[in-house]
Amino acid sequence: MTGYVKYYECSSCHYGEQFVQGPGFLVRPQSFPEYISGNHRLFHYKIHEKIINLANRYQSLLISATYQVYKCPSCGILFNKSKVNMVSDDKILHVNEFKCSRCRRRLKPTNINRLRRAVCPVCLKPSFLRQKESDLLWSSVKA
Ligand SMILES: [Zn+2]
Ligand SMILES: [Zn+2]
Repeated sequence: MTGYVKYYECSSCHYGEQFVQGPGFLVRPQSFPEYISGNHRLFHYKIHEKIINLANRYQSLLISATYQVYKCPSCGILFNKSKVNMVSDDKILHVNEFKCSRCRRRLKPTNINRLRRAVCPVCLKPSFLRQKESDLLWSSVKA
């Protein structure tokens, strides 16, 4: 899996922000025994409780994290979140839900590789443009 880093800058107020999409640096895919013996302070305590809950029911629970960019369907503002994946035998056991900090609407995942323009989080004009020259990527460490 490859990760992407994209830089957006507002052509109106010149506010700039970096967004990442792809596998998390800190959390490689791991089984529950690996997770519980490692640093489980990586996640929010509610996520941690959910993992423990699911591990009781699913023997082959696999935990991983991905950086995902979300867009508010109402404001058009971008948010970068660390999405936690909980999977067992290809079954997705946990769906991440995030809300817009401005209007509280549920955010929708977006693909920054296809997103050239968004709404600036500072001046709220639709002039938040992806800068082409700062296209970086990384490859995740093998599990
Ligand atoms: Zn702006
Ligand atoms: Zn919103």
